Amino acid sequence: MKLFASMEERNHEQVIFINHLESGLKGIIAIHSTILGPALGGTRMWQYENEEAALKDVLRLSRGMTYKASAAGLNLGGGKAVIIGNPKTDKTEKLFRAFGRFIHGLSGRYITAEDVGTSVKDMEWVRMETDFVTGIDEALGGSGDPSPVTAIGTYYGIKATAKKVWGSDSLAGKTVAVQGLGHVGYHLINHLQKEGVNLIVADIDEAATKRVVDEFGVKAIGADEIYGVEADIFSPCALGAVVNDETIPKFRFKIIAGAANNQLAVEDKHGKALRDRGILYAPDYVINSGGLINVANELEGYHRQRALNQAMGIYDILLQVFDIAEKENISTHAASNHLAEKRLQDVAAVRRIHTQRTVIHRDRRRNAN
Ligand code: NAD
Repeated sequence: MKLFASMEERNHEQVIFINHLESGLKGIIAIHSTILGPALGGTRMWQYENEEAALKDVLRLSRGMTYKASAAGLNLGGGKAVIIGNPKTDKTEKLFRAFGRFIHGLSGRYITAEDVGTSVKDMEWVRMETDFVTGIDEALGGSGDPSPVTAIGTYYGIKATAKKVWGSDSLAGKTVAVQGLGHVGYHLINHLQKEGVNLIVADIDEAATKRVVDEFGVKAIGADEIYGVEADIFSPCALGAVVNDETIPKFRFKIIAGAANNQLAVEDKHGKALRDRGILYAPDYVINSGGLINVANELEGYHRQRALNQAMGIYDILLQVFDIAEKENISTHAASNHLAEKRLQDVAAVRRIHTQRTVIHRDRRRNAN
């Protein structure tokens, strides 16, 4: 494994390997960038096939967090952690408290949260050893379930796509196909229905489907049928890689805008393929940044309404992304990367000014002595 070469590939600042014999903790923390602020990103617990797979995952995910925070306008950097282990059998208080001690040792350069394989309870153990953790229970002053904030951000994001395609952000009378009726999908459907949207829904979970059909009176279809259904907007809120070589030819949508992570199977290729087909794609990490906005708010003393208001701002960010895509003749996915990179460069430039000032002061002090 070429460690430094792997870090250089995506320009990572720091990677920390953790080994704690007494608790069995084996993990990696990757800090991709702290240009905008402390690196924030969840801790994934997973039984990786090998150490290389764990490293690859944490490097990829931490960089994604830098872009997400930057595009969302947050003063946060990008980081991520992985714990190598089985989330069903290997979790103990000892393990997560030990993990918390290691995070504390980074003095706030990295702030963690829950992710795939970890829960609010695990983060409470981490919190016993460090304050550099978010995503804890509301009862403990945390931000609680992020999905209502993610859903409102996704809803406003969908409205922004409508504005771009039809000149009006009203969704009344439009047909939206929602894939995935879990935490985010459920809240999203609630917002869409209030605006008079015709809804078509699909989920592989019968109970989740029944709840939405009973409560909102919407039409449910088979999980495989959704890619070819006749609808104005497709809103993926379940899994990743749903935009791929097989699904793209089936699409009859004008817009793809949903909360799921990593929607494009191959980012550049499928981002471009959607553009070529005249389908407007709301980049996933921009439209679903409500979850990150939610935990970022926790750092300043959590207030749900403030988080919701901030998530509604995804509307304006997406309009900016669509403008960049149009002007630069690139996919919306590439445009959101440009937006994120531009903000990183701008803030890095400001930080350089700060450094020069410090040096000038120091030199003045030296000359005075
Ligand atoms: P969830 O687990 O609560 O819901 C996902 C739903 O998708 C489940 O009901 C599941 O049965 C369904 N599903 C799985 N495979 C499916 C398939 N093939 N076809 C149709 N339905 C399928 O998850 P969630 O919290 O609602 O998150 C949904 C997506 O949004 C995920 O990709 C997640 O990473 C992303 N996301 C969530 C948040 C958040 O705040 N929860 C924030 C950012 C991104």
